[in-house]
Amino acid sequence: MSYDPRQILTQAGQDLAVEEVPLRQIADQFGTPCYVYSAQALRAQYHQLAAALNPLKSRIHYSVKANSNLGILSLFKELGAGFDIVSGGELSRVLAIGGNPRDVIFSGVGKSVAEIDLALKVGVGCFNVESRSELERIQQRAELAQKVAPISVRVNPDIDANTHPYISTGLKDNKFGVDAETALTLYSMAAKTNALSIEGIDCHIGSQIARTEPLLEALNSILNLVDTLSSSGIELQHVNLGGGFGVRYQDEHALDLNAYGAQLHELLGPRQLPLRVEPGRSLTANAGLLLTQVEYLKPGQDDATGFVIVDAAMNDLIRPSLYDAWHDIVVVDGFSADDPVQQLDVVGPICESGDFLAKGRSLQVSEDSLLAVLSAGAYGMCLASNYNSRGRAAEVLVDGANVQCIRRRETVQDQLRLELPEGR
Ligand SMILES: *Cc1c(COP(=O)(O)O)cnc(C)c1O
Repeated sequence: MSYDPRQILTQAGQDLAVEEVPLRQIADQFGTPCYVYSAQALRAQYHQLAAALNPLKSRIHYSVKANSNLGILSLFKELGAGFDIVSGGELSRVLAIGGNPRDVIFSGVGKSVAEIDLALKVGVGCFNVESRSELERIQQRAELAQKVAPISVRVNPDIDANTHPYISTGLKDNKFGVDAETALTLYSMAAKTNALSIEGIDCHIGSQIARTEPLLEALNSILNLVDTLSSSGIELQHVNLGGGFGVRYQDEHALDLNAYGAQLHELLGPRQLPLRVEPGRSLTANAGLLLTQVEYLKPGQDDATGFVIVDAAMNDLIRPSLYDAWHDIVVVDGFSADDPVQQLDVVGPICESGDFLAKGRSLQVSEDSLLAVLSAGAYGMCLASNYNSRGRAAEVLVDGANVQCIRRRETVQDQLRLELPEGR
């Protein structure tokens, strides 16, 4: 059931590879740090989820924010996915790959007037509304544009998904969605205007959820609302369960997708409601890695843990610093059997003690080694910054023996351009 982080690695001759392409070859060709994604792994993750939801009428809307590279979006579009977006920028990305706006769900607590206007103009499939004020704004903008805005209300079912506080979204003190009572009020407001058309209902209770129980509990409270609305004459066209399906980074259990699909089926009972899901992490996390070259080995003072200083840093992959996240580190090459196995922190060149990729790992490395930081396909590159004026990494998509650069490395000129007066 769980897709192991190391499944992305294969062997091409003597070398560690992604699909048929050796990692050393990628590092030589594109430089480091470099994100490498496996097209086969991305497809496998998508098909696994689609199969688990198979007995149900359902649609997968890939959550763009987990990895918003156009190459990745194109791949999911080819597989038949719709998209879940949280900004006008993400909408523009979907449009840039020729995605159908009707297949787009627009989530997020802070939709601006400009974002709503763009979404109305191109005709997104659904606005997931997160507050009364937002509903009123969408109605006004739709009236002004003489359009009808399709809407769903995001319900916050007050359920503890047992995940990291920063990625928990379904508790009543989180900023997301509205409580059940407010949801009913918003639906009756929406039913009274021609500028809004009621499409569905949605929730998203957090990320990296390992057990099916909180997800099913959320569906249960949503279904109560569906039935209440139905008895007052409001028939919903879909139920959107959000994303948040947990993956394996270290030794956690990934969410059991087949069990989840079967339990959803049971809970829905005779209702013929089409389902939507918005997975991000579970489709991409274990389909990507970050390649990084060792710069220096540095012993710790006295008996303290030593350091392997690499050319990737927290600006490239912030998850370890931000969430204390664990990523498997694999030494690709550049070491010999004579090198000692050492306990080391894997750190970057940034001037922050929080700049680490891993702590206290047993590694057999030399100063020539190439390392792979696994499970870096979700919330990796999309959270990268230019801190310390570092250019953002290149991104490469491997499909069999085919390697495609899907984002070139950012240059210093790219960074300076926005700050220099025109023409300099
Ligand atoms: C982030 C987000 C998702 C995707 O979450 P994952 O944990 O990456 O699956 C889905 N829906 C909404 C509304 C989100 O904000």
